[in-house]
Amino acid sequence: ARQLPDATTNMVCGYCSTGCGLNVHLQEGTAVALTPTTDYPVNLGMACPKGWEALTVLDSPDRATVPMLRNASGKLEPVTWDTAMQTFVERLQGIQKQHGAESVAFLSTGQIPTEEMALLGALTKFGMGIVHGDGNTRQCMATAVVAYKQAFGFDAPPYTYADFEESDVIVLIGSNICIAHPIMWERVMRNPHDPEIIVVDPRMTETAMNASLHLPLAPKSDQTLLYGIARILIENNWVDHDYIDQHTNDFQEFREYVAQFSLERVARESGLSEQQIQRFAELIHDGKRVSFWWTMGVNQSHQGVRTAQAIINLALMTGNIGRPGTGANSITGQANAMGSRLFSNTTNLLGGHDFANPEHREKIAGILGINSEVIPTQNSWAYDEIIEGILRGKIKGLWVICTNPAHSWINQTQCRDILDRLDFLVVQDMYGNTETVQMADLVLPAAGWGEKEGTQINSERRIGLVKKLRPAPGQALADFSIFKLVAEYWGCGDMFAQWESPEAVFQLLKECSRGTPCDFSGIDDYEMIDKAGGIQWPYPEKRADNAGERRLFADGEFFHADGKAKFLFEDPRPLTEKPTHRYPFILLTGRGTVAQWHTQTRTRQSAVLRKLYPENPFVEINPADARALNIRPGEWTIVESQRGRLRAKAMVTHAIKAGQLFIPMHYEPTNRLTDPVFDPYSRQPSYKSCAVNISRE
Ligand code: SF4
Repeated sequence: ARQLPDATTNMVCGYCSTGCGLNVHLQEGTAVALTPTTDYPVNLGMACPKGWEALTVLDSPDRATVPMLRNASGKLEPVTWDTAMQTFVERLQGIQKQHGAESVAFLSTGQIPTEEMALLGALTKFGMGIVHGDGNTRQCMATAVVAYKQAFGFDAPPYTYADFEESDVIVLIGSNICIAHPIMWERVMRNPHDPEIIVVDPRMTETAMNASLHLPLAPKSDQTLLYGIARILIENNWVDHDYIDQHTNDFQEFREYVAQFSLERVARESGLSEQQIQRFAELIHDGKRVSFWWTMGVNQSHQGVRTAQAIINLALMTGNIGRPGTGANSITGQANAMGSRLFSNTTNLLGGHDFANPEHREKIAGILGINSEVIPTQNSWAYDEIIEGILRGKIKGLWVICTNPAHSWINQTQCRDILDRLDFLVVQDMYGNTETVQMADLVLPAAGWGEKEGTQINSERRIGLVKKLRPAPGQALADFSIFKLVAEYWGCGDMFAQWESPEAVFQLLKECSRGTPCDFSGIDDYEMIDKAGGIQWPYPEKRADNAGERRLFADGEFFHADGKAKFLFEDPRPLTEKPTHRYPFILLTGRGTVAQWHTQTRTRQSAVLRKLYPENPFVEINPADARALNIRPGEWTIVESQRGRLRAKAMVTHAIKAGQLFIPMHYEPTNRLTDPVFDPYSRQPSYKSCAVNISRE
């Protein structure tokens, strides 16, 4: 018999940071189908293929359904939860006893609800004595976090999605939102002001194809270009002096600094023509409402923070911030990257607080009813420092939650070698077949999106709800329940007595946020979020227009003590790996399709999504290079860097410039090639450029 729904509810999608609302159709309380929500303020009735297929991937035979422990002959075999938990505690406590509390670390995610992240962060740091833990948000958003904190005084993306429809000039830097954030792109397409769309990207991406001005600059010359644009704006007096005087610091120093970025120099270093650069500046000047947007092309860079701040500088100096259709706007990656940024208890103490600040420690300890002495007085090591810590023998035990470093971490071969050195690796995941699960000593089966509840925070700071609408398969448990179980077996369950449910944790987090820039203490409960269609922070008190447009800095007040934003700048850094005779091409990586998500852990489980994307890795190569190397379309090639090699089918296309190649991030071997260098301030890996060679197989 056909399964006809008898009720409908809605919740937010669990893939990307857009945070679309999805109507989930239920039969006797269980989800059987979904459609995009038509009146949710984010997506206005649209969803991308990943959202449409969000239920399908829950039914996969690859789901992890029972705890698995590696036996004496090296095989993973099913065990009970009791055995799993006893082993977890015995092995990790044993390591801590022998090597110190710091010898166990965790790596988490931007894919689980905020309440789960907060419980994990509190459990590990306050209950288990773990000092170092980080999330995969280090791979996507760390740069934007640091850029905003230094410039604005808090990690505060200023915009609301309506800005896409209200700008008359939209500048997209290192951002292929047409496929990475397709619903945001739909909002650009709805813009009634016939906006100029400027795309700064080495590749002719799908977004660039729709631009009024595409600037295919040399890889990683963006910081130089942006300083050059600042100089042109200043020289022509195309700046907003009143705004600069009233709301910013250090403009005079910036003005003197950028004087060295002459048009000739910027053209030479970026590979753009002087006319293109001049036109870019003119369009910014001509715009009444100019919005600047960036994503991974900027963040995943060895100079990401200063590049992001070069974007912020342009918005500040032209007064394009705090008004409709403006802003220096970082688009987040994962569904709950912002929840992680504020509440994972890794880089910040819960709620954007500072581990090093005794007052902050006292405040959080008071809210949680714990002794402030258990709160570490320093931040965790960053992801790369944790990996390095394993290499140096400082970290011996690792707990990986809902992320896949054996696929996604930069310089993958070295990463796998390093993970192999651990005494004990625990992996908690929805699926039993990820590259990292295959390396685990203990696998904990987790429930997925739709099988548990909590909140997520999207790119425009909107807190949305996810709901439990299906049972998890087999013995899989919500991550929240697994963390509670660990607390009990570890012997610190009492510390988390008031963390009894995700909604109880939400109430605690509200208190943690009170008085901070991300204060959302005016939200009553989950029901209020549900009814409002999500609520943007800040929300310190109840108001009538929850779902309306709400952007930051409308009053020109920033979060530094003097209320002013800062101009920040420094010399661009040279490419860390330049092309050589042996490796003459620059490899770019990035999102390759709207249909796949990151390491494909979930999306490869859908036949529909698989069909929308080539199964075999492909490499984009310019026709001139293909001709010179006698590579024909569709032929297998070998692409290699100093660190590894892979097979990929040639996609011969003018989308990529001569001397450059492009391989999507989703394929398992892509990160065999990438170069492990990091932004010095954010420690974000620089995935976007390394030197490679290509030849016919
Ligand atoms: Fe989900 Fe993002 Fe697609 Fe919206 S755009 S349906 S949030 S994956």
